[in-house]
Amino acid sequence: MYPNYSKAFLDLEDVFVKKVIQADSFLKVFIETRPSEQLCPCCGCKTKRVHDYRNQEIDDTPFQGKTVTLILRKRRYLCTSCGKRFLEHYSFHPSGHLGH
Ligand SMILES: [Zn+2]
Repeated sequence: MYPNYSKAFLDLEDVFVKKVIQADSFLKVFIETRPSEQLCPCCGCKTKRVHDYRNQEIDDTPFQGKTVTLILRKRRYLCTSCGKRFLEHYSFHPSGHLGH
């Protein structure tokens, strides 16, 4: 029932759908990953300290005439060892739509 990116995301076992907003002209799918222990890209220490969250909107292909947007809640971690803040690693990236 979900279009391209959505399906790719939903195939990941650590990604789950928080909510879906459906209207006549659009479909918004809010997704989030499960918290997990991360390796600091700077010093290599493990951390589970969440720093903050950012929502990233990812355009998906239109589905049944609706505009489809994935809203990924990206988690930023804080390394308790060196103080580096970094984004969670995602095993799936939709090409061409990520960017800041
Ligand atoms: Zn570190």
